[in-house]
Amino acid sequence: MALVPTPAYPVYYIAVLFAGGESFFMPLLRENNFLPDLDAIPGETASRARIMFINYPNNPTSAVADLGFFSRVVEFARENEILVCHDAAYTEMAFDGFRAPSFLEAEGAMEVGVEFHSLSKTYNMTGWRIGFAVGNSKAIEGLGAIKSNIDSGVFQAVQLAGIEAIRGDQSCVREMAQVYTKRRDLMVKGLRDAGFDVESPKATFYLWVRVPEGHTSTEVATRLLEDAGLVVTPGNGFGEPGEGYFRITLTQKRERLAEAVERIKAVVF
Ligand SMILES: *Cc1c(COP(=O)(O)O)cnc(C)c1O
Repeated sequence: MALVPTPAYPVYYIAVLFAGGESFFMPLLRENNFLPDLDAIPGETASRARIMFINYPNNPTSAVADLGFFSRVVEFARENEILVCHDAAYTEMAFDGFRAPSFLEAEGAMEVGVEFHSLSKTYNMTGWRIGFAVGNSKAIEGLGAIKSNIDSGVFQAVQLAGIEAIRGDQSCVREMAQVYTKRRDLMVKGLRDAGFDVESPKATFYLWVRVPEGHTSTEVATRLLEDAGLVVTPGNGFGEPGEGYFRITLTQKRERLAEAVERIKAVVF
């Protein structure tokens, strides 16, 4: 049994399926700041669970977690003997001076958890397939046994580029954060002017936008595609509690985003 957030990056529950396991879905709801409600997990489920996935800063909701939440996860994992896998792909992509904590900063986290980082977002190396895992040594040993038998090492040039990225001057990370801050501000303002309900995220390059009253995620995504030529991701595609939202990715230049805002404003819902 695995404890898996929803809405979420689909690979968590699919990995569980591949391993022959069963997922218990933890809904990420706005009223809980898109954090799983650990008290809502039935005791029997918690005691059967072997692993929990979490991901903050979060894709797709762009929510962030503080150390207090991570400490509660550590406590829950200790009580129920669960391994925590924290997907930390967006920890370095934070704005307005916010610093996203590592799960491993929480006291006792090293005993119950592992944290996965990817160079995909931090260094614009998406598709280069390189990252790293840190944490509980037994879990890392298990990961090593699996990884070295199900795939091969990363192409060496990519490994060398990764070393450069990590060891080098980190000003590129701050510069990128500034680029995303400007894009975020432009898009959040544009969406709000167009009447959408959206929070300004502290991290990630996603906006998690409420659909207008009386519409579904699929309807809004289809309308934006057909009437405005814009591709957004319907929230229900990340899991059922994502219904009522759509996700915008800020991976286009400001000029293009400004054009997108104009096109969104022209669509009448
Ligand atoms: C992009 C992303 C990753 C990183 O995936 P890679 O396979 O390393 O490119 C991990 N988790 C989430 C939630 C992501 O959005």
